[in-house]
Amino acid sequence: MSPELINKVGVITEALVAFLGASLVAFWVGFVFWTFNDIRARTHDLLTILLATLLVLVTGPLGVLLYLLMRPKYTLMELYDRQLEEEALYREVEQQLVCPNCHRRVEPDWMFCPYCHTQLKKACVSCGRLLDLEWDICPYCGAPQQTEESPQVVGAVLDEAALTKQPSAPSS
Ligand SMILES: [Zn+2]
Ligand SMILES: [Zn+2]
Repeated sequence: MSPELINKVGVITEALVAFLGASLVAFWVGFVFWTFNDIRARTHDLLTILLATLLVLVTGPLGVLLYLLMRPKYTLMELYDRQLEEEALYREVEQQLVCPNCHRRVEPDWMFCPYCHTQLKKACVSCGRLLDLEWDICPYCGAPQQTEESPQVVGAVLDEAALTKQPSAPSS
């Protein structure tokens, strides 16, 4: 081998090493920035952010692997979305109406339970919209309603009052 060739090989090797070194540094820095951004999307905890970034800063590609194994599974946005979904589901379940008699599912605009024929709602005497049975006024048009329960309740209270008054006349 001529000295010229050896010189050439030396130059090429040097260039290669320099290139690889620069690439490694670039990757290293890239990993650190990527980790910093990724962990910030997953937690607000400053200590965790600091530790994860330091881990990758010190150990480089190995740290990235470790970080990928240990990082929180969901980003904060994903957690927020899941929470919203769960709340929506919960609300849906909560809003499902059931017949007070047979406990089967009924729709909010049904006047009667189709399974056991229990009356669920009544129609306003004036505008015809559906009202709860115990309402004594229509919230839509203001027309007073006859309630089936209120006379009984008033009657029961009156009866009770009469019963308690009768035996103990000298109460005052
Ligand atoms: Zn029913
Ligand atoms: Zn009405």
